[in-house]
Amino acid sequence: MKHLIIGSGPAGVIAAETLRKASPAAEITLLCGEGEPPYSRMAIPYLLKGEIAEAGTHLRKDADHYQRLRIQLVQARAQSVDTAARTVSLGDGRSLPYDRLLIATGSRPSLERIPGMDLPGVHSCWTLDDARAILAKAKPGTRIVQMGAGFVGCIIMEGLLSRGVDLTILVRSGYMVRRMMNPTASGMLRRWCEAKGVKILTHTQSQGITARDGALQVALADGRSLPADIYLSAVGVDPNLEFLTGSGIELGQGILVDPTMQSNIPGIYAAGDVAEANDCLNGKRQLNAIQPNAVDQGRIAALNMAGRPARFKGSFVFNVLTTLGLASSSFGEWQGVPGGESAELLDEARYRYMSLQFEGDRLVGANTVGFSDHIGALRGLIEGRVRLGIWKQRLMDDPTQIMQAYLAAAYSVA
Ligand SMILES: Cc1cc2nc3c(=O)[nH]c(=O)nc-3n(C[C@H](O)[C@H](O)[C@H](O)COP(=O)(O)OP(=O)(O)OC[C@H]3O[C@@H](n4cnc5c(N)ncnc54)[C@H](O)[C@@H]3O)c2cc1C
Repeated sequence: MKHLIIGSGPAGVIAAETLRKASPAAEITLLCGEGEPPYSRMAIPYLLKGEIAEAGTHLRKDADHYQRLRIQLVQARAQSVDTAARTVSLGDGRSLPYDRLLIATGSRPSLERIPGMDLPGVHSCWTLDDARAILAKAKPGTRIVQMGAGFVGCIIMEGLLSRGVDLTILVRSGYMVRRMMNPTASGMLRRWCEAKGVKILTHTQSQGITARDGALQVALADGRSLPADIYLSAVGVDPNLEFLTGSGIELGQGILVDPTMQSNIPGIYAAGDVAEANDCLNGKRQLNAIQPNAVDQGRIAALNMAGRPARFKGSFVFNVLTTLGLASSSFGEWQGVPGGESAELLDEARYRYMSLQFEGDRLVGANTVGFSDHIGALRGLIEGRVRLGIWKQRLMDDPTQIMQAYLAAAYSVA
């Protein structure tokens, strides 16, 4: 049995290791698309901060790991998939056969459609190569203009500031991390960042970038122009799907998969940022670009590829973020649900905020800022769809009772 995995991020690596365990005699090939050993993007903020060296980003630290498991690493990019012939053609002209295929190609930064994106000094912060380029230039006083303040835009700030750079962030919508936080939480994050010396310009965006006298000029929508040494584009991500055009694999926003992580084509599976699976709370198909999701899905896909039935319980949407030392989180239906109820705790002076969203006596979503010790309990209650009973009113009265509610309700025998 020939197993081919496209993509060597967390989803691909876990899948390869799971396959080896479940199928000792199978052939396993892992395509690495960036000319790097398999690594974790999640570690890049620590690399920027100087807390780890490049090797610290590698998913497996032992140089012989893949060889020992007889997982063949191939440094090449997939260009197309022929589902009838069961082959994948590569950028270097080769073609690899497969019996079972896993597509774990992740996502990439969305491209801003403005002039100047190809100039030297214009970067994203997504790959190890991006991190190297930023590290080479980011020195005390280096002027960085960053477009976007989503999850990645926020998580890299600490690493950038630790280099002594002068950081300006443009936030088009006016709200930082608006896809995971309500306006109150987002406003608190903004105040925190400004207090740490980050300049934040809201309701504006770059219109174009030019190079002049050894520096970049970032033209803003309001007519102003900002000088910069680095322009960082962080406006979102898109799944890597283009090479599948015409393959017959059914695509929505990502690769549409069933609970076994199989696509519409038997024998072809998808996992991680590129897969569009059902949400475990609302049942809707969606992308969920976080590492824990990639790992779960990679494992489930591999078990099924090896002939061991396993089902994905559904994506659980949550984000836990640390922005310049301030912890924040969002879970499930953090915006609330029609007919639902909510409870809120706000302490602006101490940067502490919690909002809980209920549907009946279940907690279905939450936003927090400044709390880190409630994360596991919040996740447990929301993902487990735990009936709170009398604990609902207690949480409405005092949202900080989360841990007590979890211990009482999640472990009660109804
Ligand atoms: C700076 C940063 C910080 C992050 N922090 C967090 C965090 O704190 N928590 C969290 O949960 N998530 C975080 N993420 C997101 C997390 O990294 C992703 O959700 C995770 O990497 C998804 O894993 P994956 O295996 O699906 O895809 P990826 O890790 O993106 O791996 C995909 C692989 O496929 C390869 N590939 C793509 N196209 C091809 C092709 N055509 N042929 C061959 N190979 C190809 C790529 O080169 C890559 O090796 C962060 C991301 C970044 C950039």
